[in-house]
Amino acid sequence: MTNKYKYFVANWKMYGDKKSVNSLNKVIKISKISKFKRAKIIYCPPYTILGDFIKKLKNTNIKVGAQNCHFIDGEGPYTGFVSSKMIKQIGSQYVIVGHSEQRESGDTDIKINKKILSSLNNNLNVIFCVGENLKQKKKNLTKKILSYQIKKGLNKVKNYNKILIAYEPIWSIGTGRILSERELFKNIESIKLILKNVKKHIQFKILYGGSVNDKNIKFLSKIKNIDGFLIGGASQKPNKFIDIIKKSYI
Ligand code: PEP
Repeated sequence: MTNKYKYFVANWKMYGDKKSVNSLNKVIKISKISKFKRAKIIYCPPYTILGDFIKKLKNTNIKVGAQNCHFIDGEGPYTGFVSSKMIKQIGSQYVIVGHSEQRESGDTDIKINKKILSSLNNNLNVIFCVGENLKQKKKNLTKKILSYQIKKGLNKVKNYNKILIAYEPIWSIGTGRILSERELFKNIESIKLILKNVKKHIQFKILYGGSVNDKNIKFLSKIKNIDGFLIGGASQKPNKFIDIIKKSYI
């Protein structure tokens, strides 16, 4: 992997405070090195420090995204929620939608579809997460689940160019467990086929997420059909995150 653009999405989950912006200095430095010019780094911190990250990363080629949005476009009486319009207004360019930790707290495929449509309407790039749980994997339902989630999620979508698919097997998130090379390649190919049936002429970018770290990144980087990574835990430590980026380019 040398010439291809590669995505490194840092999902900070419910971690980080104002001081965390200082940890970005090292990553900013790396992003300026010509060897890593094709690394598309996107930070997704909690809402509370989204503005700080945007300010800090202004005039760099590192982008910022939110971790979720409400499914209603605009404003409304929805206590505790943030809309894609607000996320765009503050200066984010990306939003994660359909993360399993949000699906767990009530995101249905219909809500996810509405979130995607509202985000696109507000000109945000969408990192759309899909993936099977362990029970579904054991029952050989992975392909069926992926197909269902993708078709429902992308219903009525027109602007496919702003969609990144993140394949995140739920059983792999935060557990240290990842798929075998063969299985991961096969599942990504299944996603490509499903997408081809949805929209024939678009070359979707497909990321992998689930326990990506500085130890397994070399192995994961060899898998040819992956366009980048969605990284949770390991992205919060700048040295580990930098190692992941560096080792992807060996
Ligand atoms: C995630 O938050 O999407 C994720 C993949 O987390 P982790 O890398 O910690 O498994």
